[in-house]
Amino acid sequence: MKPKQFAIIGLGRFGASLGLELMEQGYEVLGIDRNEEVVEDMSELLTHTVVADATDEEVLKSLGIRNFDCGIVAIGNDIQMSILSAILLKELGVGMVVAKAISVLHGRALERLGVDRVIFPERDMGIRVAHQLVTPNLLDYIELSKEYSIVELSVPQCLDGKMLGEINRRVNYSCTIVAIQKQTGVIVAPTAMDVLNAGDIMVMIGDNDNIDRFEAVIN
Ligand code: ADP
Repeated sequence: MKPKQFAIIGLGRFGASLGLELMEQGYEVLGIDRNEEVVEDMSELLTHTVVADATDEEVLKSLGIRNFDCGIVAIGNDIQMSILSAILLKELGVGMVVAKAISVLHGRALERLGVDRVIFPERDMGIRVAHQLVTPNLLDYIELSKEYSIVELSVPQCLDGKMLGEINRRVNYSCTIVAIQKQTGVIVAPTAMDVLNAGDIMVMIGDNDNIDRFEAVIN
């Protein structure tokens, strides 16, 4: 079932940004932070905000934390606080517990506690930005496995007006373009006859070597 109600522990840069985006998308967000000033800054922007220590079990119980579909431990720098809050969220029966880790070992500890999803925002963003810096046309990518990825690329001038079949013959890149986003709409599962125009966005799936080769050719 899709989570609808989120509780965020720690309204630092990561927690606040996550909360605002969830609100933007129409979800209910409870924000908890022990710092009064931080809570005051967010109080108008989230559904509910509370000044509380998230390692206080009684406080979490009184907030009805177990009724939340998803609890996110967004405390990073204070590893002890992060781990204690994660234990409590799991023990109190929050549906899904997500926690931010700042190091590999921190992440491993959270996994051992049974946290459902451990995220490494700084590490992942670093990797993402590195990819985007070396591949100017790359808008986004998802690593499906060590070998396969999905990438979103903006169509460069050199492919303007070319049919997919034509590009495949020329470059022989062995990747599949699964969608093309044009100003007029999205073409899902395009055929060899579909034409790319500069500025379109193409979504491509393939093995990483072939994607790299394709990116090198179009740059
Ligand atoms: P970021 O790098 O995303 O800014 P931080 O780890 O610096 O993350 O910030 C975490 C936030 O979590 C801070 O606002 C801090 O006050 C809050 N915090 C830390 N420990 C607790 C706790 N035990 N209970 C509630 N909030 C906490």
